[in-house]
Amino acid sequence: TYRMAFLDELTGLPGRRALMSLFSVLGPRDVVAMCDIDHFKKFNDTYGHDVGDQVLKMVAGVLGDVSGGGRAYRYGGEEFTIVFPRRDTAYAMQHLERVRQNVEAASFALRDKNRPKEKPKSPASSQKQTTVTVAISIGVADKNKSQGNPMEILKEADKALYRAKKAGRNCVSE
Ligand code: GH3
Ligand code: MG
Ligand code: MG
Repeated sequence: TYRMAFLDELTGLPGRRALMSLFSVLGPRDVVAMCDIDHFKKFNDTYGHDVGDQVLKMVAGVLGDVSGGGRAYRYGGEEFTIVFPRRDTAYAMQHLERVRQNVEAASFALRDKNRPKEKPKSPASSQKQTTVTVAISIGVADKNKSQGNPMEILKEADKALYRAKKAGRNCVSE
């Protein structure tokens, strides 16, 4: 029941309900970061929804490994939230920048649509493999941005995310 209610089916990350449950027990002294995949609609349109799902899993895996005690959630769609309980933006920034770079560095190998069902006799070098890269933009806010509850800090993080997108994407903004 816990898994069904709190874990996102596709990515295995805790979902929005789990985030809200964390917000209800934590005070207003957290850093909240909103992460959003760049140009993901175009990615789906180009490679298809199934490949998009694979990319979501890959990104979720990288975000789930964020350093510094950050906790990653799938907020919904291609948006993820990372919370650093009882930390400030200056602390979180270095870890968010690192996780942004890790997503950028994780190139994603596409399966060839025409690849043979049986293993070819000649070595794999004859098969062409397309690799694609993905990037994320991140907006971050803490209690200094909003004196309110974590949900209000999240809204500030969402505004910062908008600034990151406007600044050219693939970056972290306050
Ligand atoms: P931006 O850089 O401004 O964020 O551009 P974007 O294209 O990523 O933004 P937009 O919000 O227009 O598109 C989000 C896309 O994410 C649209 C939707 O098809 C896709 N998406 C949301 N959830 C899922 C999902 O679970 N699987 C797949 N494959 N795609 C999803
Ligand atoms: Mg979005
Ligand atoms: Mg997006």
